[in-house]
Amino acid sequence: MSAGWIAIVGLGPGDANLITPEVQATLDAATDIVGYFPYVARVVERPGLRLHASDNRVELERAAHALAMAAAGQRVVVVSSGDPGVFAMASAVFEAIEAGPDDWRGLDLRVLPGITAMLAAAARAGAPLGHDFCAINLSDNLKPWAVIETRLRLAIQADFAIALYNPRSASRPEGFVSALALMQAEAGDDRLIIFARAVSTPQESLRVVGLQSATADMADMRTVVLIGSSQTRQIARANGGAWVYTPRGLAP
Ligand code: SAH
Repeated sequence: MSAGWIAIVGLGPGDANLITPEVQATLDAATDIVGYFPYVARVVERPGLRLHASDNRVELERAAHALAMAAAGQRVVVVSSGDPGVFAMASAVFEAIEAGPDDWRGLDLRVLPGITAMLAAAARAGAPLGHDFCAINLSDNLKPWAVIETRLRLAIQADFAIALYNPRSASRPEGFVSALALMQAEAGDDRLIIFARAVSTPQESLRVVGLQSATADMADMRTVVLIGSSQTRQIARANGGAWVYTPRGLAP
């Protein structure tokens, strides 16, 4: 039996202080780090640690490479930003296991959680996700756009607060334009919308506007967008800013 193992970890939204001690200890014990290159670049280099950075959209190959190294006795950490189970590498690793050789099912494997972007963003704003909410990935790389539209429409109708990941990429700038138009039409009344960009990094910015006056250029690929429910509101702060929160319950 080999001493190899594989851990699929989340590095949090950006700030090193938001990496959990469990994830940090696992990174410190690794021989090999696998991931999308901007995330691998966040791991501190040290002698004896091999970094395997790859481009986006090769998740399955990357997962298979990581599994093969663990099966060969290496201590492999697959890194994602935020949480590894939220639109990230953990599912890709399980897809590779399902399709892969039987011996991968005997591997010592752990998934270690991290702070996902919507939670880091919500904490900055106040408590916009304090009542029922859902998360939708706006990337249509892995699903048809019609599915995204149905889910957005029903989420607005069900009056969820909504977190939108991957709102905008250079290759599909039109997707968020139509998503925003759909939500504006479906919501009818106004709601709050938060554009949280690069949370917990030096480029962080937070912008709160009414959904009806939001424009697509307020988001980019480093932004997570939080749309409030009909109950989400602001409390003016003494310093001129505001907290955004959603009450825990609905009035009967
Ligand atoms: N696994 C990650 C999500 C990967 S999808 C997580 O749990 O956070 C990539 C998307 O996450 C980006 O397009 C953006 O919508 C969001 N995101 C990741 N880091 C972010 C940050 N620091 N600030 C705002 N949004 C972020």
